Amino acid sequence: MDTCLFCKIANRQLPGRIVYEDEQSVAFEDINPKAPVHILIIPRRHIATLLDAHEGDDRLLGHLLLVANDIARQKGIAARGFRLVLNCNSEGGQVVFHLHLHLLGGRPLHWHPA
Ligand code: 5GP
Ligand code: ZN
Repeated sequence: MDTCLFCKIANRQLPGRIVYEDEQSVAFEDINPKAPVHILIIPRRHIATLLDAHEGDDRLLGHLLLVANDIARQKGIAARGFRLVLNCNSEGGQVVFHLHLHLLGGRPLHWHPA
């Protein structure tokens, strides 16, 4: 999508610290990290929110989780532990409307999600 920030990062029209990419997905460092490791994992295809994913996207959504596993291992945080966050729509805290998983880790994470 022409005006989407994350589409532009994935297409390299805007700078981003890309740490992983394949045919279906791209992962890059969050510009305002909330933890020592804070990576955003997105589908290449523009999907605005989780609610815009449909039945045929089940493999793609599963793939994003497995990419998170790979990056967590690559960053050395798999065994210690990490967290995945997916914000949906405004009250869910979503600010960028291209579906993304936050991969957070590298320090003990507190649990006050709301
Ligand atoms: P959301 O609140 O939509 O779940 O998360 C959006 C995330 O995108 C935030 O953590 C924010 O720091 C990150 N972000 C916003 N603009 C940019 C940008 O231009 N580049 C990168 N790498 N991350 C961004
Ligand atoms: Zn997009």
